[in-house]
Amino acid sequence: MKTALVTGANKSIGFEVARQLAHKGIYVYLGSRDVQNGIDAVNKLLEDGINNVEVIQLDITDDESVKNARAKIGEKTERLDILINNAGVFGGYPQGALEITIDQFKATYDANVYGVIRVTQVFIDLLRNSPEPRIVNVSSSQGSITLHSDPSYKYYDYKAAAYLSSKAAMNMYTVVLAYDLKGTAFKINSVCPGFTKTDFNGHRGTGTVEDAGKRIVKYALIDKDGPTGKFFSEENNPETGEIAW
Ligand code: NAP
Repeated sequence: MKTALVTGANKSIGFEVARQLAHKGIYVYLGSRDVQNGIDAVNKLLEDGINNVEVIQLDITDDESVKNARAKIGEKTERLDILINNAGVFGGYPQGALEITIDQFKATYDANVYGVIRVTQVFIDLLRNSPEPRIVNVSSSQGSITLHSDPSYKYYDYKAAAYLSSKAAMNMYTVVLAYDLKGTAFKINSVCPGFTKTDFNGHRGTGTVEDAGKRIVKYALIDKDGPTGKFFSEENNPETGEIAW
């Protein structure tokens, strides 16, 4: 049975990704920084008849938590096939270039950039044991410098210094990681779920978690001829999905 780890899976997009992967017969480790929230999430899936899921305590900003999660998963499996780096934060307000504080920047990068790097580095050995390892870094089209400098981009006026730059930084990590693992079976991509109705945006998003989940799961399951080191946003390019960095 294939295995997957989804970070920030106790609710919203991460929870839906966990549900969709489990529904496809993959054994899912549902990452949750609060164990009880994770247990509640697993119980919801159990009520829907999904039992190939278990909670794993995982705060992506905490070295010990990530190492403990790696040790616990390592007791159960020698290999991880899919890592979904989903957990992320917006970073609060204000996010204007002249008002945002350094502390806000640090907290946002701690989760959205260093958290992704931390989890990836700690789990890479288990991923290397998979014949077809896949990593999806959940990004945002708003992390595209090309789009955000184009006045015709639909979210051009949604500027947010810490959040947007953290996703741009994470995107560059995707590029470097894919380059460093070139010539292997790894496929690593940045994927935007689209503007989705969740707690993240006070439920102002226009898309559903179901569609967001499908967009992410697609790249978690791409075959050996699929892309790596690319950036996808179906919302911004319904044809091929690929968008400019
Ligand atoms: P959400 O509703 O705010 O949920 C975020 C999830 O991340 C929660 O499970 C949260 O856990 C978890 N999390 C935050 N910090 C964490 C940490 N330090 N360690 C572990 N888990 C942590 O957000 P969402 O809308 O589902 O967004 C998921 C991802 O999609 C994010 O990376 C976001 O940037 C990206 N995205 C979202 C949208 C959108 O419109 N919603 C658009 C583009 C990209 P708690 O419950 O404990 O807080």
